[in-house]
Amino acid sequence: MRYGIYSDLHANLEALKVVLQKLTVEEKVDCLICLGDVVGYGANPNECIDLVKDKTKHVIAGNHDHAALDLTDIRYFNPYAKKAVHWTQEQLTQESHDYLHSLPLSLHFEEEDFMIVHATPSKPEAWNYIFSRQEARYEFNSFTEKVCFIGHSHQPLIIESENNEINVIQAHEGTDVVQLKEDCRYIINDGSVGQPRDRNPKSAYCIFDSDKMTVQIKRTGYDVEKAQKKIIDAGLPELLADRLATGD
Ligand code: ZN
Repeated sequence: MRYGIYSDLHANLEALKVVLQKLTVEEKVDCLICLGDVVGYGANPNECIDLVKDKTKHVIAGNHDHAALDLTDIRYFNPYAKKAVHWTQEQLTQESHDYLHSLPLSLHFEEEDFMIVHATPSKPEAWNYIFSRQEARYEFNSFTEKVCFIGHSHQPLIIESENNEINVIQAHEGTDVVQLKEDCRYIINDGSVGQPRDRNPKSAYCIFDSDKMTVQIKRTGYDVEKAQKKIIDAGLPELLADRLATGD
């Protein structure tokens, strides 16, 4: 089975449309998976929810989705993110609200030997980041599958564990297909569709082939200016528009 895995679209409809087109028409994946943060930062929360809901078989919630539902403490959010949360809360239709509310925090695909979670497998609702090898080791001990797909940091990355030895593979643009090794386990970050933060403004998305056990993280451009204009016209913080052009 070939899976198209994407996340952190953050209400950026322009980016989402292009990534879905790439995954379904160009890559012809068999199944779409979204790792959360459908809303927050961007100007089209309801439109993005409708599109994700319509096209994507498996969807889990991210911290910004929970923030929009008032389900998580946003004191640690920066002022721009907070502003975007309040703006998003005002925009959400009842239907969108109910949909976000229905999303689980993690899913396990036992037959295919992988799981998905927005932040970390050990404690999904804490929305932690994996910063160090030590933290990665801890996370590997908290799930049993061979692979765990995550989002959250907006930085595509493949973390490999070989007998508890941690190896970090950067997934920059143009990185080839990565063959997952038989004796290793993996935590794979799919990057961000709607607000990349690895200094590459192009949207990131991931293709996982569970038969061949290969992973590829790809990038695509989209109409950044249109997404920026919508953010500014909506009265959202200008910085949220600016950063789309730089990818930081
Ligand atoms: Zn995010």
